[in-house]
Amino acid sequence: MILKVRNLVVNYGVINAIKGVNFEINEGEIVSLIGANGAGKTTILKSISGLLKPAEGSISYFGKDIGRKKAPEIVAAGISQVPEGRHIFPGLSVKENLQMGAFLQKDRQQIKESMDEVYERFHILKKRENQDAATLSGGEQQMLAIGRALMSKPKLLLLDEPSMGLAPIFINKIFEIIEAIKQQGTTILLIEQNAKKALSISDRGYVLVAGEIKMNGAGNKLLSDPAVQKAYLGG
Ligand code: ATP
Repeated sequence: MILKVRNLVVNYGVINAIKGVNFEINEGEIVSLIGANGAGKTTILKSISGLLKPAEGSISYFGKDIGRKKAPEIVAAGISQVPEGRHIFPGLSVKENLQMGAFLQKDRQQIKESMDEVYERFHILKKRENQDAATLSGGEQQMLAIGRALMSKPKLLLLDEPSMGLAPIFINKIFEIIEAIKQQGTTILLIEQNAKKALSISDRGYVLVAGEIKMNGAGNKLLSDPAVQKAYLGG
């Protein structure tokens, strides 16, 4: 097991956003977290990546509690997040954005190797290497955000709404990319508005309702569940 979350409670001041959540992720899986706007999906991701501190509970990664570690330590341990809205660095080139993803890596040769792997996966980024990242299309920016996260060679990749705001052709491409990353051995925790597509590529999924997990199961099982269909898959 790569990640085990137990009784996680996260608050924003007096607002109790996550109310004692339990879930786990096995190595090599794609696991989806689905739920309505405001259910707490991003809050859970940020807690795992060290951007928010849990009020209670534990987050163990390969058996060690990381719930109180700082974000850079968590990246160093092998967990990398692609934030909602991509957050690429405008004014920096594609190449410089990728270099930012390797901020903990001091070995230039290693950085070059990681960058070559990213360019191998995303040819378009190589073509746009010296272009200001802000001038990329939405789909290209999402590839850059994923490429940047891969620069630290994560064992666990956290993806927050990777298909948001993209044209249909890019949405399909992003889901193909996610599956390919899994095939190459990286474990993935996925948050998606597009629950149908997310569950169809997921080994397992959890349904989050107002800060609590209400259902879980195999991706295809949740896809065919009438309650899930009604609430999240457009009937
Ligand atoms: P979405 O799909 O809309 O991104 P989500 O499931 O990711 O939603 P979160 O962003 O995790 O939901 O938010 C969970 C709850 O916490 C919401 O009620 C939200 O309003 C609240 N919340 C999030 N961030 C803050 C904050 N910085 N301060 C106060 N409340 C917050």
